[in-house]
Amino acid sequence: MIMLSTSPLKKNAIATNDNLVARFKKGNPSCSRCEHASESIEHVLFFCPFAQAIWRASNFSYTPILEGFPGFTKWWWRIYNSSFKNANKNCMVLIAFLCWNIWKARNEWVFQGIKNDPIEVWQEAAHAAEEFTLSSMLCNPTPESHNSEVSHSWMPPPSGFVKINCDAAFLSPSKEASIVVIIRDYSGKVVGGATKLVHALSIAAAEAFACRIGVFTADREGWQNIIIESDNKGVISRLSSNKLSFWETVSIESDILYFKSRFESLSFSFVNRRCNQAAD
Ligand SMILES: [Zn+2]
Repeated sequence: MIMLSTSPLKKNAIATNDNLVARFKKGNPSCSRCEHASESIEHVLFFCPFAQAIWRASNFSYTPILEGFPGFTKWWWRIYNSSFKNANKNCMVLIAFLCWNIWKARNEWVFQGIKNDPIEVWQEAAHAAEEFTLSSMLCNPTPESHNSEVSHSWMPPPSGFVKINCDAAFLSPSKEASIVVIIRDYSGKVVGGATKLVHALSIAAAEAFACRIGVFTADREGWQNIIIESDNKGVISRLSSNKLSFWETVSIESDILYFKSRFESLSFSFVNRRCNQAAD
């Protein structure tokens, strides 16, 4: 299944817009969803804001980085070799299903105008991978990978708490930010979440937006003991110290602190980028 899923990619046989233009010498190579880049398979699977939101919503601690990306095939084999070396074969099954479901969501958007939710795309991929693994009588399915490229380093909150990982991917030309918020309980189970596309002044404002959506979502869903996690040091530092001085984020952070009295416990935690890729 893994071999079959990658072989068409090697031949550039996938009908992405850039491949279609190269083949037929006409058409528009731009991504139909974001219109910010040529639609290569790497853009669809990794760098489109929609794909980035899905990877951040997944259990993988991974945000694809465009700079230095080796292309899908090399990336795949790098992960494959690393994953198998670490005896974590199920990781490849999960990645294959995740890529497949991202591609499927792209087709549903292009041909049917269906707007899929990034969290649901991830959950469907995880479910399909689990069913595949069970039916193939492989060993116990676990979504975690322990290789250096894709790893799962998310730490659970204490019992009775939920941890809300808040993250934003910011597109500076259009000032658009794709926000993903994932709520997990002490066992790591996803118990809620939200995704949103917003306009923001800067990456700091986008990250503050993500935290605000996290707090609003927790309040709406009735969680009382929450930990907000973000990889933006400035936002977390200001919220933790209650010192709101940065003009780009002050109004958003004020909203978050205004909500503090509605919770039994609301704390803020900084995690490095690789760790926050649980929602990141
Ligand atoms: Zn795109």
